[in-house]
Order: sequence, then C-alpha cells, then structure tokens
Amino acid sequence: MNYYLWTIGCQMNFADSRRAVEALETMGYREADRPQEADLIVLNTCVVRQSAEDKVTGRLTSLQGLKRRKPEVQIVLMGCFVHEVPSLQQRYPWVDAFALPSDVDTVVDLARDLAAGVPHPAARDTEPPVARETPVSAGVAISYGCDHLCTYCVVRLRRGREVSRPVAEILAEVRELAAQGAKEVTLLGQNVDSYGHDLADAGRRADKGHWRPDLADLLKAVHEVEGLERIRFLTSHPADMTDRLIEAVARLPKVCEHMEVPVQSGDDSVLRRMGRGYSVAQYRDLVSRIRQALRPEREADTAAIPSVGLATDVIVGFPGETQQQFEATYRLLEELRFDMVHVAAYSPRPGTPAERLPDDVPPEEKERRRQAIDDLQERIVGEINAQFQGQTVEVLVEERHRGKWRGRTRTNKLVFFDVDGVDRTGQMARVRIQWTGPWSMQGQIIDVPQLGETDQEDEG
Ligand code: SAM
Repeated sequence: MNYYLWTIGCQMNFADSRRAVEALETMGYREADRPQEADLIVLNTCVVRQSAEDKVTGRLTSLQGLKRRKPEVQIVLMGCFVHEVPSLQQRYPWVDAFALPSDVDTVVDLARDLAAGVPHPAARDTEPPVARETPVSAGVAISYGCDHLCTYCVVRLRRGREVSRPVAEILAEVRELAAQGAKEVTLLGQNVDSYGHDLADAGRRADKGHWRPDLADLLKAVHEVEGLERIRFLTSHPADMTDRLIEAVARLPKVCEHMEVPVQSGDDSVLRRMGRGYSVAQYRDLVSRIRQALRPEREADTAAIPSVGLATDVIVGFPGETQQQFEATYRLLEELRFDMVHVAAYSPRPGTPAERLPDDVPPEEKERRRQAIDDLQERIVGEINAQFQGQTVEVLVEERHRGKWRGRTRTNKLVFFDVDGVDRTGQMARVRIQWTGPWSMQGQIIDVPQLGETDQEDEG
C-alpha cells in the first residue's frame, strides 16, 4: 500500500504530517512519489492567506480526474481548509474523508480500514513495517488553537480556542523522539507563550502558591530529557512573552537563542485595528529585553556575531494602511534588524472581523510594499550574516542536501559544508564560515567536539 502526503502551511501542519507518516509507515504503507501511484492521498491544508487556500483548491481540483480513473483511491482532506464539512462534501464529492486540523487519528483510522480491506493481503506481507527514520530536528505540538482575537486571522475560527497538552504527554513524545535519535525539538503552537494557562491547577507549591505549569516550566522539564541537545519554541505572541520565559531561555543551555515574535505592523493605529494588544513602544522594549538577557557573557563577544536570532512576521496592506503607516513598519524593521522577516500581503479571510473592512490597498501596492520589505530584509540579513565570516559556529547537522551537509546554528542560521565520507547526521559540528549570503552560509568543518565540551562555548 502506498500513500501520498502533501503539506502546506505552518510548522504545526508539518509536525502533524510527521506523526501521520510515522503511523502510516509503521502500518506498512510506503511513500509514493506521485498521487497517481498512491492508494491513500492526504492533503494537509492551510487557509491562513488566500494564496495558500488557492494552492489547496488547485491540488484538490487536480485530484478529481484521478479519482474518476481510479475510484478505489482514498482521498483525505485535513487541516484548516476543513470547515463546514457538508458544504465541502458538496463541493468536493471526490474527497472520501475530512479531518480537522491536527486530527491525525482520522487519517490513521482510514488508512487502517483501507489496509484491512486490501483484497490480496499477501501483497502487504511483502512490505514489512519499518519505522521511518526519525529526523534530527522534530516539531512537537504543545498547544492547539489560539485565544487571541487578531481581527485578520482565521486560525481561531478553524482551530478553535487554545488547548495545552499536559506536560507529561509532551515529555513522553519528546523522550520517544530522543530515544529514536532526534537531537533537537521545536515546541510548537500558535502562541506558545501562553502555554499552560488552560491546564488544571498543578497544586500548591511553597514558592508559587497555586500554580499551573507555563512555558518556562515546560522548557525546564524538556531540558532534562536525555539525548536531546537543543530546544526551540515558536511562535510567540509579544503580549504574552514574560521575563520569566526570557530568563529560562537565558538560563537553560539546551534552549537555543532563537525566537519568533511576530510584530505585524510598526504603526500603533494599525496594531489596534489588528487587535494585537501591544504598542510599537512595548514591542521595542520587548526586543531590547530579549537582546539584553541573551547578550554574550564575555564583553569581547559583543563585537563578534549576534547572540540571539530574532524572527518576526509582518502583514502589509492591512485595510486602511497608509503609505506613512507602511513606512513606519519599514523603519521599525530597519531599526530592529531581524534575522528573518516573514512578510505577507494582507488577504481578507472569511468570517474574520477585518473581512468587513474595505480591502482598500490595491493588490499592486500591497505587492510593492511586500517587495520593499523583502529587499530591505535581504540587505539587513546579508549584513548580519557577513559578521559570521571567519567565525567558528556550532552546527547541528540535519541532512545531506545537494552534495553538502546542511545544519543550523543555535540562532537558526542555515550552514552548509562539504561531505567528507563520514555520516555527520545528528552530529554537533564546529564549522568555520568561509562564505555568507542572506539566506545561508558555507564553511569548512573543524571538528566534532565530544558531548559536554561545547557547553561553555559561545559561537565564534
Ligand atoms: N501567532 C502568531 C502571531 O502572533 O501572529 C503567528 C501565527 S499566524 C497563524 C501566521 C502568520 O500569517 C501571521 O503572523 C500573519 O503574518 C500571517 N497572516 C495571518 N492572517 C493573515 C491574513 N489575513 N493576511 C495575510 N497574512 C496573514
């Protein structure tokens, strides 16, 4: 039995797809290169922007003919596209099953039924179940849904209110991944900073009174997992990031100096209309607290490479965004100099409050603003990365890619180095940087220090 799985959207979708793949391959399914070769097709979807939704509908439409020619193929639609199922059934009658966002169980149940109904079970015996190789770096969902009410965002309507997974359940998944060889986990949620606020009271503690675990507690617990070397988390919400969390990142050696804190706009009135719950001044203050807390310990290092990788999201062309308001965003990005900016042109999303506002920035103007920020960011990251030239960085090697090893630094910089006949997958390599560009760097491997040796070192 073969499956074809297509994923688009956030890291949560990719983490859900990884869980589905693990379950399918354990059942004896094999990955097909093309939908035409599959018995089971899963589309894990996103509708956060119109462009993502268009790609999903394109994919869905392209499967109609395949289903006609091969009616036995089972098609499952999963993710944020799934909403008001009866109307989806009417529009896409060739889809066999619908699974809500993160509902991997529905996919697995259907796959099991499908495998059980295979007319020639002997054919299955030729494919003994093998567990898929665990990735060096894996995403682990820590909460689902979102409690914020950003006026442009459809996520809450599709994924519902925030539900945190219990600490024990997350730890069990992380331990399992580490036991299988994962070296890094990224804790995922729409807003990880509010992790735990919905969990049951964890009891009384002398120092805290009644308390619930928060993200800082979770990081501490995950930090204890043996075999794991790095921890990341995303995405954060600026209004929910506490000093306690920033301190935990600074204190826990396995937690990487890398944060994704979406600002969305550099203008207070746009932020208010977006329902973001913070001002530009508060955001600026947050960035400075993060950079201050994670600054290099040794004074000499401040002249070297940046000690924290900061990423942000920006929406351009929100309803009513004037040229001046856009320029305020541009200037803020120039001032704060992020390592990564995910910039999106606003698109109205069904059912959101902003959908009722006039979408009055013309598409070509949205594109001009988006491109201006992309160009600015290319220059800024090019300059930031140039500081790495000649420095030695610690790279967790993830995989081979086009004849090179590929990995990332603690601050999430992508680094490539030449293959040298040794399997470096999962190694923590020290690499001297010889070439830098805005999107990646290249270097030469120096050595692979034994575990523990790197603990006291900064990059550089
Ligand atoms: N929770 C995070 C936050 O604080 O915003 C980010 C998660 S959000 C699902 C992913 C990104 O998609 C947002 O940061 C935003 O930039 C973008 N986005 C969401 N709705 C959008 C819309 N209607 N049009 C364009 N971009 C949108």
